[in-house]
Amino acid sequence: MTKPMGAIPAEFQAEAGVLAIGGRRADALAEEAGGTPLFVYDFEMVRRRVECFRSAFRGINLHYAIKANTYSPLLKVIEKIVDGLDVASEGEMHAALAAGADAADISFAGPGKTDAELEAAIDAGVTLNLESEGEAERALGIARRRGRRARLAIRVNPDFEIRGSGMRMGGGAKPFGVDAERVPALVRRLVEAEADWRGFHIFAGSQALDADALIEAQRATIALAAALAERAGHAPPLVNLGGGFGIPYFAGERPLDIEKVAASLHEALAARPKILADSGFAIELGRWLVGEAGVYLTRIVDRKQSHGKPFLVVDGGMHHQLAASGNFGQVVRRNYPVTIATRFGAAPEEEATIVGCLCTPLDRLGDDVMLPRAEIGDLVAVFLAGAYGLSASPQAFLGHRPALEMLVGTGN
Ligand SMILES: *Cc1c(COP(=O)(O)O)cnc(C)c1O
Repeated sequence: MTKPMGAIPAEFQAEAGVLAIGGRRADALAEEAGGTPLFVYDFEMVRRRVECFRSAFRGINLHYAIKANTYSPLLKVIEKIVDGLDVASEGEMHAALAAGADAADISFAGPGKTDAELEAAIDAGVTLNLESEGEAERALGIARRRGRRARLAIRVNPDFEIRGSGMRMGGGAKPFGVDAERVPALVRRLVEAEADWRGFHIFAGSQALDADALIEAQRATIALAAALAERAGHAPPLVNLGGGFGIPYFAGERPLDIEKVAASLHEALAARPKILADSGFAIELGRWLVGEAGVYLTRIVDRKQSHGKPFLVVDGGMHHQLAASGNFGQVVRRNYPVTIATRFGAAPEEEATIVGCLCTPLDRLGDDVMLPRAEIGDLVAVFLAGAYGLSASPQAFLGHRPALEMLVGTGN
């Protein structure tokens, strides 16, 4: 039976029957890149997301969480249009610095930072989002020994999470952040140790499509930041409100209503408690900025039948695009939007299953999907590949060729 797939983002159009990305034909892009498998990222789409954010969320800083996509040419151009880059390892920190970001605009979160990572961040002048009191003491010790003033923010483990968000990272016992009730004491400790205390980082979830759930979490975040500041007796220079803006991947999902979230956030900030009067606010986004701008192109190398079912076997797979295979945190596998890029817009004729080249039954890119009839040599496009594609896939697994990457839409 045919299984549904998510909607292809409306920006993608056909040019002479072939999918166009950033106004250029997919087959020509693959040729220019030197083959497939290939990720193509359209910077123009990212720029439009940033503009959409800017016009809705006036006065709020926008950070890009780079773990969604660390392709360096993309990072370089995104860096210029956002206010900060959020990183989660020393490797990502160096990638952010190499992209041209000022150290003061980089914040480094993540549990399990080693002394070497803390040292590198403190030397560079990057803000550390502290995940525990132990980490705070290690950072203070390192700063003292190196004669530096560390820039330190506290990641708070809030006692709530975004309702229905794809991934829960707040609420209850968690490896992330410091439990809210212990945060005021830690703020005082940092201030007394004469660290440069930057404020709070409160991240309550990811992949939220429900505006009301996000609104509720943002309001709770502002209230929590104010309560912690009151109890600490210090106002936070910056409150990072987290992010969690989702994109629709699957059949039946609807885009997040950004205008509604923004209107409610402005209302909540206008009425914020006095202690936050001079604080700055930031939202950190990965997926929502870059997810829809990426397409994974992979070529059909075999077409076969098994028990009457057509299988399209491609030269890529889950080692590059784990999420589309359903093996990145999904309980039940559902289809990402996929198409035959070289027959884009043609009428669907057959129900086929698209599998990758890995020797495991987990490697599926499209399960019982309706497609135009495709042959060996045709290109398959997997959409929504701009976030958590290559940066979140086990590329070394089975030793196939690495994926190529390409940036279009930069206007030069
Ligand atoms: C992963 C992560 C993000 C980005 O999440 P998206 O769902 O890609 O927007 C933001 N903040 C923190 C702390 C994260 O760990």
